[in-house]
Order: sequence, then structure tokens, then C-alpha cells
Amino acid sequence: MKSRVIQDEPEPTDLIDAPAATGASHEDKELKMTAIAMPAAEADGRPVADTANGSVVAAHELSRRYGEGETAVDALRGVSLQVVPGKLTAVMGPSGSGKSTLMHLLAGLDQPTSGEVTIAGTSIGKLNDTDLTKLRREHIGFIFQFFNLLPMLSAEENVVLPLSLAGEKLDRKWVDELMKRIGLAERSNHRPSELSGGQQQRVAIGRALVSKPTIVFADEPTGNLDSKTGGEILDLMRNSVDTYGQTTVMVTHDPRAAAIADRILFLADGVIVRDLGRTEAHEVIAVTEELAR
Ligand code: ADP
Ligand code: MG
Repeated sequence: MKSRVIQDEPEPTDLIDAPAATGASHEDKELKMTAIAMPAAEADGRPVADTANGSVVAAHELSRRYGEGETAVDALRGVSLQVVPGKLTAVMGPSGSGKSTLMHLLAGLDQPTSGEVTIAGTSIGKLNDTDLTKLRREHIGFIFQFFNLLPMLSAEENVVLPLSLAGEKLDRKWVDELMKRIGLAERSNHRPSELSGGQQQRVAIGRALVSKPTIVFADEPTGNLDSKTGGEILDLMRNSVDTYGQTTVMVTHDPRAAAIADRILFLADGVIVRDLGRTEAHEVIAVTEELAR
């Protein structure tokens, strides 16, 4: 998959129709998701959240078991939640607690063993592949820890890739604004290899925002960056929530990152063990320590 995406430039439909991988490595999975999770654009205006039931994405009693028999792993064991529109939600928890699994399920990139995910009012378990892809394109943006940019494309081409794949017309003004907002207007023609890690992640954020999706998921977006660069990325994430009302769910290990969130969910062993509002970094650390006991 990886080499095909990069070397052969397959047709968009080729990428979009790729079946969901189970048991794939994280890297493979993330590349695949970059390719297939491209949301489509609203014709104009700001992100439009389906607020009919007060939530844009909801999970009901989600469970996810990997493998079978004695070696089976229960990554999620009954998670229910409603994502609050227009807010930044942080997801914390120790390594292996099920954070990435939860993000993949909420984004419709993986299927639960049991339970239900609703995206913008649609229960996605009943959708066929084509309809699910369409729904994802329209409603979901995804930011990965390792950026997952396409190396042969420029910064701007990477940012607008979701629109290109969907055959959408470019809104020049919006793309220019976005390139400025992510601080890459002067470097729009640079390839990822010519950019720093922080700049590459900003490209990835632009790519997630370009379609004005209903919701953006970020899985440890600062996990591969130094502290100062990570801080800039967090500012940008917060900024997109405040400026565009961009509903965002962000997995993080960093109490400082969680402290910019409006809500913090703590996962442990595949269940939500805390659900807090705005919380300062030192309190986040205290809760983390308490849960580790
Ligand atoms: P986190 O993101 O919090 O570190 P994950 O959701 O990646 O946690 O993983 C939760 C649990 O599920 C871990 O025990 C992990 O080893 C397991 N797991 C994750 N993905 C797979 C997979 N594709 N196959 C088997 N086990 C997996
Ligand atoms: Mg993870």
C-alpha cells in the first residue's frame, strides 16, 4: 500500500476503495487512512456541525477485540461518549489503554467488535463501503503522529489533496488563508523533505482542515516533536477551534496539551475512567498519577 501510494499514484478510487485492514501495522494503517479518510469540502462557510442531537460524533458501548482465543486483546471494553461540537476534547491514558483504537473507531476507520458509532447523526455500522467513504470524506479530518505526508507532493499539494481526491474545486481564498494560518504561505512549494518536523505537522493540520470537516481527530500530534515545536502545534489546534469552531478530538500524553482542552477524557484498560472539564496541567498530572496507582 505504502509503495503503491507513493510510487504509482493510483487513481483516487483505488485509494478510496481500499478495504479496511485489520491487524495491519500502525504505519500501514495510518498511511491507508491518510489516503482514504479524505473529507470533502463544504461549498462555502465554516465547519458545519450537525448539532441536532447536541453531538457530532457519538459512541455507544464500543468494544474492540483484536485477535482470537488466548491471545485476544480487548482494546476497548464498553466506551460510550458524545463529542461536544465546537470544542476541543483531549483523550489521555497510558500507552495501550485504547486511545488510538477509539480514535480509529470514531473516525469510521475500523469496525467495533460490538457497539455503535454515530457520525453526524448517521449510524455508520450499517453503511456499505462506498457510503462510509463518502461520509468520512465529508465529515472527518485526521492528523497523525508521524505526519504521513506524500513525499512527492509540495506542501500546498499535500494540504489540498483531500479536495483533489474528491474532485472538488479549490476555493483559492480559503486555501491561501489556510496556508497563512499554518505559517507555510512562503513555503507552499517545498516538499516535506525540505520542511522541519513542526512544519510537516502544520501541513498535516492544513490537510485535515482544508475540507472544513465536521470533526478533526488528532492522534498524538505533538508526540514526535520537541517541546517548543509541539507548543506551536497545540496553539494551532486551539486556534482552529476558537477561530473556525472546529470540533476536535486530540489524543495526547502531555498534560500541557491536555490543559488547552475544553474537556479531558481519561482512558484506562479500554474504558473511560474520568471525564473532566477544563483542567490545569498540574491537576492533569495529579489525576494521571492517581489513576496510575
Ligand atoms: P494506545 O493508543 O492507548 O496506546 P491502542 O489503541 O493502540 O492504545 O492499543 C490498545 C491495545 O490494543 C494494546 O494492547 C495494543 O497492543 C492492542 N492493539 C492495537 N492494535 C492492534 C492490532 N492491530 N492487533 C492486535 N492488537 C492491537
Ligand atoms: Mg496510540
